[in-house]
Amino acid sequence: MPQGKMRIRTGDRVQIVVGKDKGKVGNVLRSLPRENRVIIEGLNMVSKHQRASRQMMQGGIIEQPSPVHVSNVKLVCRNCDRPVRTGSRTLSSGRKVRYCKNCDENIDR
Ligand SMILES: [Zn+2]
Repeated sequence: MPQGKMRIRTGDRVQIVVGKDKGKVGNVLRSLPRENRVIIEGLNMVSKHQRASRQMMQGGIIEQPSPVHVSNVKLVCRNCDRPVRTGSRTLSSGRKVRYCKNCDENIDR
């Protein structure tokens, strides 16, 4: 895989394949291409101490999703509703999209 090219993007539906959330599916909230990591909504949650601030009067422990390395997630096809292998192809418009190798549906709209 070429370096610096993320195969997982913001808005993707992915499944975590390792750790305590193994098998769980969620949407990618943010991608961190420099670290090759993604933040997935509601998954790989970690507790962090939060100091009282103007936004949070109380402070205390908050839960937030921690970044997951892209090698630990699989892209889930919305059509198949399961993790799939993907390929990429060029549409007649010239746009490059990823597609599901299982059902042949385009993953990028
Ligand atoms: Zn599919």
